[in-house]
Formats: sequence, structure tokens, C-alpha cells
Amino acid sequence: MAMRLHDTITRGLREVEPLEPGHVRMYTCGPTVYARSHIGNFRTFLFEDILRRWLDRRFPRVTHVMNLTDVEDKIIRNALADGHDLKTETAPWIRAFFEDLETLNVRRAHHYPRATEYIDEMVAIIERLDAAGVTYRSDGSVYYRIAAFPRYGRLAGISAEGLLAGAGGRVDADEYDKEDARDFALWKAAAAEEIGWDTSLGRGRPGWHIECSAMSMALLGESFDIHCGGVDNIFPHHENEIAQSEAATGKPFVRLWCHSAHLRIEGEKMAKSLGNFATLGDLVATGVRPSAVRYLLTAAAHYRKTVNYSDDSLHAATESVDRLADFNRRVRSQQPSPGEGDAEADDRIARTRTEFEAAMDDDLNLPEAMGAVFTLIRALNRDLDSAPLTTVTHRRLVELLDEVDDVLGVLALVERERAGPSLSREEQTLLEARQAARATRDWGRSDRLRDELAGRGIVVEDTEAGQRWHRC
Ligand code: AMP
Ligand code: ZN
Repeated sequence: MAMRLHDTITRGLREVEPLEPGHVRMYTCGPTVYARSHIGNFRTFLFEDILRRWLDRRFPRVTHVMNLTDVEDKIIRNALADGHDLKTETAPWIRAFFEDLETLNVRRAHHYPRATEYIDEMVAIIERLDAAGVTYRSDGSVYYRIAAFPRYGRLAGISAEGLLAGAGGRVDADEYDKEDARDFALWKAAAAEEIGWDTSLGRGRPGWHIECSAMSMALLGESFDIHCGGVDNIFPHHENEIAQSEAATGKPFVRLWCHSAHLRIEGEKMAKSLGNFATLGDLVATGVRPSAVRYLLTAAAHYRKTVNYSDDSLHAATESVDRLADFNRRVRSQQPSPGEGDAEADDRIARTRTEFEAAMDDDLNLPEAMGAVFTLIRALNRDLDSAPLTTVTHRRLVELLDEVDDVLGVLALVERERAGPSLSREEQTLLEARQAARATRDWGRSDRLRDELAGRGIVVEDTEAGQRWHRC
């Protein structure tokens, strides 16, 4: 079956048919590196990771670009306050971003261009827009005249006339000299003492939107396949990217626009500006497992539905992860019995693979795909209780689990979590002593050891798969 994705422009499912056969080119809007990204941002980045991983399975070649917005009003303000240049100001946040990607087992993009390294490309596009007659100048800044681009508003599904400045999106606060409230800055004039670049457009710095047009086209070509972001990027950011890119090149910019719904907390969008955000670091420090965060943000709901962050939803995600990981361990630690495949089990495994792939091909329906996997786990857990799998069935099952986790990406995280953070030798001895006490049914001693571990901030739980611990 062909892979289909929901396209924001046509508002329906469209087959992924790369412009260059066999090679998908994808651009995903990256973080603005003025602070640590919060897990709302990671809902979008993880949706993009799932998409990337599925494209990797479905196409011979994928080129994935994610930008880093390292020049922007907030960054400039912070840099001034800290007495830093831009590079020094953004370096720790860029490092933190890559740490978080690692913690969440995100597959690396092929390129992470930084806006500050593409100023020449941005200037070149603005010059082409000048030549096309869709710009005007005011007080040294260059603006895009939206009235000159009749298709404006197609992505957001609003007519150009109906647009109000700022409706639903992020608008630059310092755009006051515009002919029309809907117009946006391509280049913002900067005074000699301000952070800026001396270019043919005069001294200044780029507007936010032009960055993504320049970096995506420089690395992927003037027309490419997929462009993603969170729904709040649709307007004005992506709408403006289309207007700039298509007016400059005269070619269609992007084939398929994909947007993920927001992560919410207590009914509101998680956002820096609302102060209701949590970073991955905050959560991990309180004992939340990255595998559970990854599962919650990718598999608890379809990417076009909002996800709610709460103790309950996190708990449910943790349980799903453990059910999968325990089954995976159980299977891998089992010695299969020699023999041909078991027809019924083989059939179940084959059916699960078909269902998993069909759900993923159908607009990346990971929750449904995981539903098929959990149905299989329930059935095979029953089988495993009575007899080990045969060698052939066992191999097929392991292959399927590998394929599932190639997309889901949580099993490797669970292994990492179970291995660490490393325990002190003393803590390790206490845990082992407790395990030994349970093996000899010495419940009194086991409880005393549990209390002693709790006193050291280690919470122990007993599960079917044995004793499990985490730091609180
Ligand atoms: P920013 O660093 O603000 O440019 O945002 C990076 C990405 O995070 C963008 O694609 C946003 O659409 C996305 N984003 C921001 N808040 C949320 C949220 N609460 N849920 C999902 N995605 C979000
Ligand atoms: Zn962007």
C-alpha cells in the first residue's frame, strides 16, 4: 500500500510521491534556541521523528533538514543582557537541544543549518523578490507586499482579505511601518550598534520567515516534498514561507504540508509564554522516564489530535512501554524449542505486521499500529505461558519487534533506563539482597530492605517481570 499523509493545503490525505523518484526531501522547522525546548515542542519534533523513521522504512533515500533559529528578537535581547555575541548566547541552548534529542532517541536529521550561517542566501532571495516587485522599503526595513501574491492564505485556509494581522500566529512586534497590516518583514533594519549584518540590503537582520525559505531551498532545492511543523506554524510562518519562496522562484515550493496538533496541559496549549511548560530535564529529574515521554507524545494519540499531559496520561504511557518492554525481554530471553513454525502464531505475527504497516501508511496512525501489536502481545503471552516458541516463530517475532521499535524507538530507551542511572555499589547490594529475600519468600526482610532503599530515594516495585526501581 502506498503511504499517505494529511496535507494541510488540500485538507485531505495525499500519497507521498517524491519529486525525485525514491528520494524524499523533508524540512522540519527547528527550535528557536533562546531557552531549553519544552516537551510541547518535543511533541512536534517527535511526530517528525516518527515520520522520518517511517519514510526511512518506505523509501530508499530520505534527506531530512531541521533548522536552528539562532537569531531572533528574544535571542538578541538575552545576548545584550548577558553581554554575549549570538554564538555564545545560543551555544548552551543548542547543546541542550541535542542532549534532549539523544535522551528521547530521536534520529538525527542530515543537516541542522543555523540561520546565522545562511544570511547570504536570505539576502539573495530578498533580491529576487525585489526584482519580482513584491517588496517595499520603509525606514531601512524590507517588507513583503501580500497583496502581490494572490495565493496568499491558501495554506491557512483564509482569504487574504479576511486576514487580520496576528490572527492565530506569531507576529513580529516591531513591524510598524507597513503599508498593510498583513505585510511582514523580510529584513529588519539595524542601527550600527545593534546586532546585524552589513549587506546589499543595508545593515540589518533577517525576519523569521525568510530563514526557513532560505535554508530549506539551499539544502533541498527550490521544490521539495514535505514540510512540517506544529499547527501554530501554519499561520503566519508557513504561509509566509510559501509566499516568499514561490514569488522568488516561480515554482511550487512544497508538495505536502504536515502539521501536528499541540501538547496541552490542564486544557491549555503548553507554551513558554503561558508559563505552563515542563522541559525534559525537569521531568527526568523527578523520575519520569524518557521512554514514557516518548510514548506519550507519539503513540498515545494520533499526531493530528491534541495530547494532554497529566499524571494519568503519563502513567498510562509508562504502562504501555513496560508491557511492550517486558514482552520483548521475555521473548528474547527465551530459549526457543527446535522445530518448524507454529502456523497459528506465525499467522498472527504476519497479520500484525500487515496491520501495523497499514496503520502507519494511513497518515502515520501509530496508536492504531500499536493497538495491533498489543493484541499480539496478549495472545502470545498466553501461548508463552504454556510452551516456548519454536525457533522459526521466535525469529519471526523478534524481527517484528525490531521493526516496530525501529519506528517507535522506545525499547532502546528502556534498556538504557534499566541499566542506569548507575547505582552505587551499596545500593546495588541492597537491591540484590532484596531480590534474594524475595526468592526465599522472606517477606519481612524484603520489606525492611524496601524501606531502607526508600530512605535512599530509591523506589522499588514488584512486577511480574521482577523487581524494578527508580529514583524519586
Ligand atoms: P519554537 O522553538 O517556538 O520555534 O517551536 C518549535 C516547534 O514546536 C514548532 O514547530 C512549534 O509549532 C512547536 N510547538 C510549540 N508549542 C507546542 C505545543 N504545545 N505542542 C506541540 N508543538 C508545539
Ligand atoms: Zn520554519
